Amino acid sequence: METKEFKAESKRLLDLMINSIYTHKEIFLRELISNSSDAIDKIYYRALTDDSLSFDKESYYVKIAADKENRILKITDTGIGMTKEELENNLGVIAKSGSLAFKKENDSKDGHDIIGQFGVGFYAAFMVAETVTVISKSLDSDEAYKWESKGAEGYTIEPCTKDSVGTEIILKIKENTEDENYDEYLDEYRLKEIIKKYSDFIRYPIKMDITNTKLKDGTEDEYEEYIEEQTINSMVPIWKKNKSELKEEDYDKFYEEKHYGYDKPLKHIHIIVDGAVRYNSILFIPQNTPYDYYTKEYEKGLELYSSGVLIMDKCQDLLPDYFSFVKGMVDSEDLSLNISREMLQHDRQLKLIAKNIKNKIKSELLSLLKNEREKYEKFYESFGRQLKYGVYNDFGADKEMLQDLLMFYSSKEKKLVTLDEYISRMPESQKYIYYASGESNERIEKLPQTELVAEEGYEILYFTDDVDEFTIRMLMSYKEKEFRSVSSNDLGIETKENEKEEEKAQKEENKELFEYMTKALSGKIKEVRASKRLKHHPVCFSNDGEISIEMEKILNSMPNNQEIKADKILEINTNHDVFKALKSAFEGDKEKLDLYTNLLYTQALLIEGLPINDPVEFTNDICKIMK
Ligand code: ADP
Ligand code: MG
Repeated sequence: METKEFKAESKRLLDLMINSIYTHKEIFLRELISNSSDAIDKIYYRALTDDSLSFDKESYYVKIAADKENRILKITDTGIGMTKEELENNLGVIAKSGSLAFKKENDSKDGHDIIGQFGVGFYAAFMVAETVTVISKSLDSDEAYKWESKGAEGYTIEPCTKDSVGTEIILKIKENTEDENYDEYLDEYRLKEIIKKYSDFIRYPIKMDITNTKLKDGTEDEYEEYIEEQTINSMVPIWKKNKSELKEEDYDKFYEEKHYGYDKPLKHIHIIVDGAVRYNSILFIPQNTPYDYYTKEYEKGLELYSSGVLIMDKCQDLLPDYFSFVKGMVDSEDLSLNISREMLQHDRQLKLIAKNIKNKIKSELLSLLKNEREKYEKFYESFGRQLKYGVYNDFGADKEMLQDLLMFYSSKEKKLVTLDEYISRMPESQKYIYYASGESNERIEKLPQTELVAEEGYEILYFTDDVDEFTIRMLMSYKEKEFRSVSSNDLGIETKENEKEEEKAQKEENKELFEYMTKALSGKIKEVRASKRLKHHPVCFSNDGEISIEMEKILNSMPNNQEIKADKILEINTNHDVFKALKSAFEGDKEKLDLYTNLLYTQALLIEGLPINDPVEFTNDICKIMK
């Protein structure tokens, strides 16, 4: 019998397959099962148009059988089969050479992973088999043929006998090598697992003989093995089912089965779109933050299916970073199986789906906020930070998208509020949206800087997250209202006429004292000033310029920090008794004034939670005034 050579390019792909140290060899089964399913599709469509044929659902299936002893794995289907010519043409030539062309273009890169992103097709069998035998009988032929190949050498075709229409793929599984365990492709349990993973939603049953044990008849402790044929795949995917048929538990179960998370999902989103682009999707918003969520290890992405066949575990292009917490899958008939990760980025359909999904997630979150507040707050606790990063990233490109989803703790409501809620409560006299930064709500509550704004009766948003101020800087304003820190120099609160006069007089009167103090603290602060915002406290910092004190803390806590400093102003409460002490020291005892100035400066540092330069000096100073 003559051995025929493969067409040149098929030969090269074969080489690639056989010699690759590709890690996902298991996908060979996905490819062969998909081919079987396609072949059954063909006979099904034929029956639709050919009255002499009938399609009896029961008789169409794929069967997987492993024979460990002889190292044989058989994949049998009752599909349309192949004629001699088809065997020759379809298996002798690579059907879609997309993979090969892609590999050529990217030859410099590590090719192995690229293969994994393709529908690699029939040749994938050579990754695990030393000999591949195909016995097939076509619906259109009375004769059956056997095609056989050991790889790159070529293949043979000869007539054979086969009773029924369909195809049998017989793989002689390779012997184990030092770094590769091929035995697993003969293991029932492992095979089941692979089928579940990739081919769970193939429309036709994928059957397998499973070995079970049972109690031997008439005994109480003797077991015997028996074989039972099982259908491994679930066939109808949950996302193709009618929403009205499905209960919350069904979605929860799917979430668990798919290992999307260990928690229960907070919300599911089931999308069925049948428009310009067709796709089905089930998305989940998890309840808890995954332990690695805010680390580099966390990978976002959705599972991508093409007509029920898994083609990508984590398709990153389907989710924007700010929604990276979303889990789930997308299935579309409009994507072909032969796509690579690189090519996907250019796929117009995929882009449309991604955009669609993004908008859907947003609207679902908004409705959660509106209708199930508690759940939204739970969500925000877990993933709010990611939304804030989202506003900040890309120079604020997505801020419009995200601003309505933000929440901050409110001084008035004592709970999380949205910016919209804040705005809607603002009295007319209020110019800005006020915020105060600090380590915790409790600490912010006690900040002296909040006194004036609070006394005016204005609401203050508490910023306790590192990213909060950066986010707000990027946002700049919300519904035309600007954000203003309570530590800012201009609070936009009008002083009354008579107070203005008084202020002016005081300024003149205390000019020299403050100049003296400013000088004493030179290099540490920009200026010492009489405070307009302090009501009860003696001292605090306020802030000039772009960098706030909170930002100084955050930036300096980062590795490779640039020692960035905020421009600080030391504000003194001139109505406080301490101020009298300052004044008399200014007149009589400069040494004492130096001491007081240092103490007040250090106090302001402590209030902000900033490190003090010399704690020993500070305690000594305190001792001095106790004497
Ligand atoms: P693709 O499935 O993308 O066309 P493959 O390499 O997987 O590429 O298969 C090549 C061709 O071989 C298929 O298009 C089909 O015509 C034929 N073929 C493969 N397996 C079977 C099968 N089990 N039954 C009938 N035809 C098959
Ligand atoms: Mg195929």
